[in-house]
Amino acid sequence: DFIQALQMPGSRDKIKKEPELTEQEKKKLTIEETKISLPIFPFKEDLIQAVQEHQVLIIEGETGSGKTTQIPQYLHEAGFTNDNKKIGCTQPRRVAAMSVAARVAQEMGVKLGNEVGYAIRFEDCTSERTIIKYMTDGTLHREFLSEPDLQSYSVMIIDEAHERTLHTDILFGLVKDIARFRPDLKLLISSATLDAQKFSEFFDDAPIFRIPGRRFPVDIYYTKAPEADYVDACVISILQIHVTQPLGDILVFLTGQEEIETCQELLQDRLRRLGSKVKELIVLPVYANLPSDMQAKIFDPTPPGARKVVLATNIAETSLTIDNIIYVIDPGFAKQNYFNSRTGMESLMVVPISKASANQRAGRAGRVAAGKCFRLYTAWSYKHELEDNTVPEIQRINLGNAVLMLKALGINDLVHFDFLDPPPHETLVLALEQLYALGALNHHGELTKMGRRMAEFPVDPMMAKTLLASEKYKCSEEVVTITAMLSVNSAIFYRPKDKIIHADTARKNFNHVAGDHLSLLNVYNQWRDTDFSTQWCYENFIQYRSMKRARDVREQLVGLMQRVEIEMVSNISETVDIRKAITAGYFYHIARFSKGGNYKTVKHNQTVTIHPNSSLFDELPRWILYHQLVFTTKEFMRQVIEIESKWLLEVAPHYYKPKELEDSTNKKMPKTIGRATKTD
Ligand code: ADP
Ligand code: MG
Repeated sequence: DFIQALQMPGSRDKIKKEPELTEQEKKKLTIEETKISLPIFPFKEDLIQAVQEHQVLIIEGETGSGKTTQIPQYLHEAGFTNDNKKIGCTQPRRVAAMSVAARVAQEMGVKLGNEVGYAIRFEDCTSERTIIKYMTDGTLHREFLSEPDLQSYSVMIIDEAHERTLHTDILFGLVKDIARFRPDLKLLISSATLDAQKFSEFFDDAPIFRIPGRRFPVDIYYTKAPEADYVDACVISILQIHVTQPLGDILVFLTGQEEIETCQELLQDRLRRLGSKVKELIVLPVYANLPSDMQAKIFDPTPPGARKVVLATNIAETSLTIDNIIYVIDPGFAKQNYFNSRTGMESLMVVPISKASANQRAGRAGRVAAGKCFRLYTAWSYKHELEDNTVPEIQRINLGNAVLMLKALGINDLVHFDFLDPPPHETLVLALEQLYALGALNHHGELTKMGRRMAEFPVDPMMAKTLLASEKYKCSEEVVTITAMLSVNSAIFYRPKDKIIHADTARKNFNHVAGDHLSLLNVYNQWRDTDFSTQWCYENFIQYRSMKRARDVREQLVGLMQRVEIEMVSNISETVDIRKAITAGYFYHIARFSKGGNYKTVKHNQTVTIHPNSSLFDELPRWILYHQLVFTTKEFMRQVIEIESKWLLEVAPHYYKPKELEDSTNKKMPKTIGRATKTD
């Protein structure tokens, strides 16, 4: 369809008038020149003055205008970091916090981690000397526990406020409260879109500082019919642009690492076949779990005569700005956590984006010159099927973690907490019930000693409970390892297309009969026994980088275990205790075998299926515990272990009644009954 769109006489005329990109000229710009060229620069003095005059300021400016990288530097120059105070700046995304900190350190000519640093979950890259600190919103939320008045900060910038993540939304309430009794603290709420008025009203009519954007027109194209396979459609569109359009980089929005890798492989495969018939096309991925040196590559200037295509998650929608993007390809999807407050089930799924997101994405094409955005959906679908705005996270995800944190901060009355948009009542109630069942709250809704200890861990309450339960079951070493491996949340197993059989054989060697958590434990322990060898990872198709991160996370967790005074002891010989500890945290996530190779969740009778990657895929134990649900073609359980139903009465007697756990038959299940073949 695009060939047609691209060949429409009108659009071709327009293309001719567009100047080719002047990469060489761009490259010549020094850091200083780049800073001066940013839209925010002419407003430097006005901005500093506004911050001096007002305690709370709402800042609105388009993505790429320089808010995130420049404002902290301006305020530092204006003296806000005197008296040993820091300027803090929150980001909803880990990658953004790391990337902007690196950029600002470079602009200021200092080493990252010294004057300019960042802090994200399980990683603190700051020091005593740090005066500009970027962090995730979740990290600042957690800092309130140790520093409830944010005394070490002179300025706090809640950046990317329009993203409306759960943590950002809660921070609004917390910082608003603090501002009242810390008149010396400056608050900046910065946003890329049109929510400024709403933020202003929330912060008692705080003034709005607008940075006029520079935007070139972007032509938008739609497909005539819906695309059956949008990854494939992306590949075709990229190649079409590459052969028919003038130079200029391409930005493609995909939903996650796996999709990006698939797209990259397909694309490189076709490029190889085209050989020297086409100009050079540099393919660069960017997603949260990509190592930071690889992430940094997207900012390298494209060599003259070549074209760059960046395959990104929606991190590139507003959090990161890549210069020289002229073409945007938007399939119209993003990955979101979706929580069903009726069943209490949370699942990761790919959903259509909102109109606001679609327009942000299109806008990425018009920063340096007129651009084009190719939407892989129909104009009808844009108009009639996309919601206007993305629903804020607080209204669609599980609040267990947030409620535990607020309780730990001494905020007991959550119904009257100052929310920008309050969460649905039933979600709040469910979170309280879950925390009660986990033993974190007593029947008055007050934090228990258990809850206080749980709040020490920057993990989901269920995971925190598992860590604490490892004390009773004397297997803290193993549970900490399993938690670290699960927290890495990116591919541990490497599965290159041309060596799938080898990779799968290697993987099977780690399989544990009791399930995936224990297989992960096997991987880690064997790696540890080789003294953390890179070679071993390579030979066993294990991703070394993921393992290294697991080791770092593990180290942090061991430190936190010491804080809550749990001794590190090992109990590897018998996995029952390890599995009981996991069950003590995840007793909400239990399913029992039902007909047709499916499972039903115990409490709500929802149909769920073991993920084909699981080591229990062919085993079909009667009772299983799952770590996570992922919805693709159906509701898949990722990472499962076999449990015994009687453990549920042992670890959660107040939640399960013996009657619910009765087996209709005591016969052992036959091994395989008409299972589908192993596909993903
Ligand atoms: P905003 O926060 O308003 O969206 P930023 O401050 O993030 O804007 O970005 C301003 C400019 O800084 C971008 O246009 C880009 O040129 C540059 N920039 C930001 N991060 C990096 C980076 N990691 N490497 C190189 N340039 C960067
Ligand atoms: Mg920004």
